[in-house]
Amino acid sequence: MLYNSTENKNEVVSAAQAIAQGISKDGGLFVPQSFPQYDMETFKELAKLDYNGRAKKIMGDYLSDFTAEEIAQCVDSAYTAEKFGSTNPAPIGTKDYNGKQLNIMELWHGPTCAFKDMALQVLPHLLTKSLKKTYDGKDAVILVATSGDTGKAALEGFKDVDHTKIIVFYPVDGVSPMQKHQMNTQLGDNVNVCAIKGNFDDAQTGVKKIFNTAEMTEKLSANNMLFSSANSINWGRLLPQIVYYISAYCDMANSGKINFGDKINVVVPTGNFGNILASYYAMCMGMPVNKFICASNSNNVLTDFIRTGTYDKNRKFYTTVSPSMDILVSSNLERLLYKFAGCDDAKTKQWMNTLKSEGVYTVDDDVKAQIDSLFYGNCCSDEETKATIKSLYEQTHYLCDTHTAVAVNVYDKYVEETKDTTPAVIASTASPYKFSKAVLEAVSDDVLPTDEFEMVDKLNAVTGAPIPTPLSSLKDKKARFNNVTEVDKMPEYVLSVLGIE
Ligand SMILES: *Cc1c(COP(=O)(O)O)cnc(C)c1O
Repeated sequence: MLYNSTENKNEVVSAAQAIAQGISKDGGLFVPQSFPQYDMETFKELAKLDYNGRAKKIMGDYLSDFTAEEIAQCVDSAYTAEKFGSTNPAPIGTKDYNGKQLNIMELWHGPTCAFKDMALQVLPHLLTKSLKKTYDGKDAVILVATSGDTGKAALEGFKDVDHTKIIVFYPVDGVSPMQKHQMNTQLGDNVNVCAIKGNFDDAQTGVKKIFNTAEMTEKLSANNMLFSSANSINWGRLLPQIVYYISAYCDMANSGKINFGDKINVVVPTGNFGNILASYYAMCMGMPVNKFICASNSNNVLTDFIRTGTYDKNRKFYTTVSPSMDILVSSNLERLLYKFAGCDDAKTKQWMNTLKSEGVYTVDDDVKAQIDSLFYGNCCSDEETKATIKSLYEQTHYLCDTHTAVAVNVYDKYVEETKDTTPAVIASTASPYKFSKAVLEAVSDDVLPTDEFEMVDKLNAVTGAPIPTPLSSLKDKKARFNNVTEVDKMPEYVLSVLGIE
């Protein structure tokens, strides 16, 4: 299977090259030229396998330049019971809430307690194998812009991986204290962490600019290095995410919640559009889906886009209690538009260029019609997020994090508006303990402790929900990093970390 850039169909690469490079030279994103097609017999076969068995089959169908043995190594070293707490890293629990069933798929049982682990525990293995196939002998420099969770998950995935170095940039005031502490205490000889004076979009734009600056890539090349990306624009990030949607479909059928062939709805708290795009790609492979429900916080640029067909990032940026979704430019949307535009690279490029120059673009009627038929978008405020955590907890004794609460709230609104009773799988993207302050405010009227770890203990005392070990063990760790830089100094910062003039 080959991949091409969304902005230039003539740029065709193998899977290994797409993963090693991260982003195409013209700034477009790599997409598969076709999708493996699974009929219900295939789904029934997959349903008999465990998670890793499903992952091997699905990833193998996309990574045609990897051997079955290589794929097995990647999957089996990523999803271990030791790292994910059980042999099923994406368990689904069902709750009765506001008169309907929520099938909550918990994607946060990995080492950093957010769903990013699902992809970032595999990516380093995929990447080192890809580098061997394509750029043998070169070291990969992973640059990451993070709104909080990606950074820690990438650091944890790449720490001490041979032939890689990783530098993470995060917005100085845009991540939770727990997220900051998780990153700044990171161990490993090949890692570096730096805050930037700006928001997530500034960090992401800064990283993209470094990738596309010839002077920077030449300097690295002269030192036997190349840039790569662990952001969700990397194909190696998206692919493992397709797996859990197909696996969820199998689990729903195995537990009798649906019959094979029935449609499901998918509800995803969305930021950079990677997670929800993976569920759409699962549908492109044959998974029956009725609606993709795209949930946003006050940064509701996607809600407006889905409703109007106009993407307009010229708006106020809000710092919310669901910071991993505080995003105004959802990079992976480009891949959906490319597909909906009938794989028209020129059109995709034009929209993206207009986005860069004017901050706004409008898609054609035909693309808009496809969005209407498959996507629903809505959003919720911080107050609604907290109220949802509280009422879900009161009704079910289930404690969810702020991002998952956005999804639950928007799903409520969707059902209210449409009366659609299609069984829904809701992606739960983080442990509530990663966002203890907001979650505690939601469920308790007491005066809050000021220290982050006291909040964790208090939340535990109030709710009895178990604290994930990776978070409780952080308390005694000392920060290794406290770097801050201006956005326009990011290139110099990277060179100095790498020891390049
Ligand atoms: C990254 C993240 C999201 C958003 O996912 P995208 O793939 O960027 O849309 C939602 N919730 C949490 C907890 C996250 O870490």
